[in-house]
Amino acid sequence: MFSVEIKSERDEDVCLLINVQNHSYNYICDCGEAKALSAKECRNTKAIFLSHTHIDHFINFDKLLRHQIGTEKKVTICGPAGITDQIQHRIKSYCWNLIEAGAVTYEIREIKDTSTYSITNLNPPLWEKEEVAVCEQESIFTEKDFSVEFEILDHKTSSIAYLFRAEDKLKINLKDGFKGGKWISELKNAYILNDENKVIQIEEKEYLAKDLFPMVSIIQGKRLGVIMDHAASHDNHIKIKNKFTHCDDVYIECFYKNEDKELAVKNYHSYAAMSGSIMKECNVKNAIPVHYSRKYDATELDELITQFDKAYKL
Ligand SMILES: [Zn+2]
Ligand SMILES: [Zn+2]
Repeated sequence: MFSVEIKSERDEDVCLLINVQNHSYNYICDCGEAKALSAKECRNTKAIFLSHTHIDHFINFDKLLRHQIGTEKKVTICGPAGITDQIQHRIKSYCWNLIEAGAVTYEIREIKDTSTYSITNLNPPLWEKEEVAVCEQESIFTEKDFSVEFEILDHKTSSIAYLFRAEDKLKINLKDGFKGGKWISELKNAYILNDENKVIQIEEKEYLAKDLFPMVSIIQGKRLGVIMDHAASHDNHIKIKNKFTHCDDVYIECFYKNEDKELAVKNYHSYAAMSGSIMKECNVKNAIPVHYSRKYDATELDELITQFDKAYKL
């Protein structure tokens, strides 16, 4: 359902590109320096999910902006409190006297608290804030087949972790000589509506939906987590467990080696063994460490990843 490409090299800042099965657009999590992110991928981006705006997560926004100007598309940007002003200031630092109206629209979704976000549009050439709505709902972004939920983690500033959730699907397990037909969708609808007494005709015979319900099973949609900078604190770990337990894939920051735990505490970051063990506690099927301190050389990064794996796969 979701396929993720880490566009940043190990010694670059972090940037993830998410492709969704049967979707023509792609999605981006964090705008760290990533030379491998192509102009086409920038143009094809429908939404950007920013964890926070430390420079290592935001510096490459200009590259997206550069390539998205002229696409005439609406691009959604989700991020923490203050993101609307920060995007606006960033864009307004350039001169726009030659831009065409409608060259691109940015729709900023600014997370206020655990279930509230505001929507504000920015349009050229003046890029003034046009307030659209304040929404109260758990999903910050919904598309055909999937939605995105969030959790606000503490990194001495709000750092948003995102959960991409594919929709659950119903499957009909044919048995007792039943064959497919238009009754399958009728049965699925009856199951969703819990309409037990709906009469469903299969070939020449009529059935009550409840007698067919044993053939219905729910296939849980894939779940992908992206957890960037966060303090390795009890409160953050409770939030991570609540949101990301039993996820299929989770990309999690792993900024420091175990030996630098003191730096992790000082800078409100996580470290290798702690990121690995929280992923193990969450029973994540496939946890992938990302985003490392630039102070490490290639050998040290190998050691850091080994420390993560040891804690995760213990
Ligand atoms: Zn940070
Ligand atoms: Zn960072």
